[in-house]
Amino acid sequence: MLIHLSDYFSQANKSKSFSLDFAIGKLPYAYKAEVVTKKEPLELTISYKEKGKAVLTGGCRLEVTLPCDRCLVPTTLPVEVSFEREVVAPERLDEDPDQKDDQVFVEEYQLDVDKLMEEEIVINWPTEILCRDDCKGLCPKCGHNLNQGECGCDTFVPDPRFAGLADIMKQLEQ
Ligand SMILES: [Zn+2]
Ligand SMILES: [Zn+2]
Repeated sequence: MLIHLSDYFSQANKSKSFSLDFAIGKLPYAYKAEVVTKKEPLELTISYKEKGKAVLTGGCRLEVTLPCDRCLVPTTLPVEVSFEREVVAPERLDEDPDQKDDQVFVEEYQLDVDKLMEEEIVINWPTEILCRDDCKGLCPKCGHNLNQGECGCDTFVPDPRFAGLADIMKQLEQ
């Protein structure tokens, strides 16, 4: 979805609110659009700030379903998107060398809402996927989900400080 921005760059006090459905195309890196299992409309307000400058204020709630980092059980977590971003008209892009990279979702006078949301979703992606805070994970020996009870495996890891002692004991046994 594209929104023309020229009025918001030129008309003082121009401001408009939208409730927008958006599409998620390709997300970069390890983020996958398929895991977005719920997405509410984006509430977006575009406002004139000064000549050649506008402000985008938005909020949206999504849900992603991903395997728990510890036990791999599919887990649904919210992604809360909330932003306020300044965008500038093409004729003012030279003023700040970083601005072009900060607004890759603006092409000339067109705001690409899908592209903006792809960026915002990545920024707000959950850093840790846990089915519950105290997830016990999987048994390193048999792969049993330890949230469903103990498996009975011996997962005792010897203290490395005693490793040398264990070697001596073995030699004595021989
Ligand atoms: Zn888990
Ligand atoms: Zn086990």
